[in-house]
Amino acid sequence: MTFELADRVQAVPPSGIRRFFEIAEERDEVISLGVGEPDFSTPWAARDAAIASLEQGKTSYTANRGRADLRESIADYVADRFDLGYDPDEEIIVTAGASEAVDLAFRAFVDPGDTVAIAQPSYVSYEPGVVFAGGEPLPVPTHEEDDFRLTVDALEDAGAADADALVFCYPNNPTGAIMTRADLEPVAEFAREHDLLVFADEIYAELTYDGEHTSIATLPGMRERTVVFNGFSKAHAMTGLRLGYALGPADAIGAMNKIHQYTMLSAPTTAQYAALEALDSCANDVREMVDQYDRRRRFVLSRFREIGMDVFEARGAFYCFPEVPEGFTAEEFAEELLREQGVAVVPGDVFGEGGAGHLRISYATGLSELREALARIEAFVDDHEGPE
Ligand code: PMP
Repeated sequence: MTFELADRVQAVPPSGIRRFFEIAEERDEVISLGVGEPDFSTPWAARDAAIASLEQGKTSYTANRGRADLRESIADYVADRFDLGYDPDEEIIVTAGASEAVDLAFRAFVDPGDTVAIAQPSYVSYEPGVVFAGGEPLPVPTHEEDDFRLTVDALEDAGAADADALVFCYPNNPTGAIMTRADLEPVAEFAREHDLLVFADEIYAELTYDGEHTSIATLPGMRERTVVFNGFSKAHAMTGLRLGYALGPADAIGAMNKIHQYTMLSAPTTAQYAALEALDSCANDVREMVDQYDRRRRFVLSRFREIGMDVFEARGAFYCFPEVPEGFTAEEFAEELLREQGVAVVPGDVFGEGGAGHLRISYATGLSELREALARIEAFVDDHEGPE
């Protein structure tokens, strides 16, 4: 082959989610509870702002770190919503999705051979991201009996005391777990004691249904060792506009900007106008979408319990993570459910250690579709119940 893949690219398997989408495409009338993106469209005010910016011909690059007015709005927003204090000039960078922010952080702070502990089950990009940066991922399985929260026991059992950095995401994709301030305190202490950098993916922060989201960066001694990722894809239903940001100490954000200015120049300009308006005038739209997700969450959890499938109480993001009934692996359940009933879900194994035996169910889908999907899941479980 003319193009011989770099070792670090060869080391990463293709995404495990893809295969299910391919089967889903072969069938008619598939209801997908597989994708992790809002079914809502971007609030109109944000779309209008993007359209107006195009009409006015505002299509040039912006400052590398993003428009100054947007960084100021982000600083006000995170201060107001999450009690996070960051200087818009030095401590915030606007990126092409939270995805770019995650990638920049790994490349800026991970040296070849460095170990990055990853709380799992987790969003699928961290492990490849660490490998692409030349580092060694260290999975840290979390457990259902801990409600999938990250604990010091889990960190110790995985050997994370010797790691260089730790990445985690709460509210969590794929489990829907959240971590309160009290849950985060021992993790923060562990990070300080073992001198770990912390990468906190808080992209689902707004989608917290039980209490308020707490960022680990607000805990004592954590701001100086933490980079927080967030963005507009989930809460503001802007996935395709590709806009996110990172918050961190000035030297950390400066290092990330050094890579960003050579590899990206600046985040998408049209999306920056949409985001500015989203922060300015769309708080009610966000609240309405969060209310809808919460209603769906309660419906889905109660239906799984009626069906007789164990499911822990997801309190954030737009996922729940039921256990597959005995007699199936998660992959078998997902594949047979898709073939027999036309419902697409994602087997938990895809999300790393701790995910086996579970399914990720996204409820970023309308209630009537959810109702039909759960009826089909019930029929599937009934069909397969009883003695073999
Ligand atoms: N982090 C998590 C936990 C996610 O679930 C996703 C999207 N599925 C991302 C980051 C990427 O978000 P963005 O669209 O902002 O790149």
